[in-house]
Amino acid sequence: METNRLSSLTVGVLALQGDFEAHVRTLHRCGVQAREVRTAQQLQEVDGLIIPGGESTTIIKLMQRYGLDTLIRQRAEAGMPVYGTCAGLIVMAREIEGYPQQPRLGLLDVTVARNAFGRQVDSFEIDLPVPRLGEPPIRAVFIRAPYITHIGENVEVLASLDDKVVLVQQANLLGGAFHPELTDDLRLHGYFVEMVRAYRRQQ
Ligand code: GLN
Repeated sequence: METNRLSSLTVGVLALQGDFEAHVRTLHRCGVQAREVRTAQQLQEVDGLIIPGGESTTIIKLMQRYGLDTLIRQRAEAGMPVYGTCAGLIVMAREIEGYPQQPRLGLLDVTVARNAFGRQVDSFEIDLPVPRLGEPPIRAVFIRAPYITHIGENVEVLASLDDKVVLVQQANLLGGAFHPELTDDLRLHGYFVEMVRAYRRQQ
């Protein structure tokens, strides 16, 4: 009901492909309502959106097929928080190194390199300091992960691994190369939920 919807916060998780279920579970553990988003109607009913990891070329193709790309762009430009993890970060990026033809939302003013950690280190876990989230570092799972090679002037770096940027924020947009939904640490989802709460308060 309308009153209900207005009183409770709903975070959407784009559920076209990839590990959306793990994000939904993590959001529930944060105590917020989460909803899988596959249609334009469902997108209209959420206050924020997570674009999960998976295969970026498939996710963007399906987004275009269901007409969600334009709508996500419009809502993000109107201030709705969007958080892309791994493939989701690639989909949000302005440029994708070596793949100039790969369609993308172009929301986040960054260049990403896909599968950038190389074959030898396909997947790995590491304790990643994220000063914004305080101590201790978060446990970050990287799976055929991208990293960010260039950032625009309005982009803030929230975490790096050596010289590789792996977590950024640009106003209402958050992009990370790794998978926080595969660990028990709820802090990064909690941080995003607070961005969504702040957005809702302005509506
Ligand atoms: N390598 C994948 C891609 O380029 C991303 C991997 C992931 O999301 N875990 O789409």
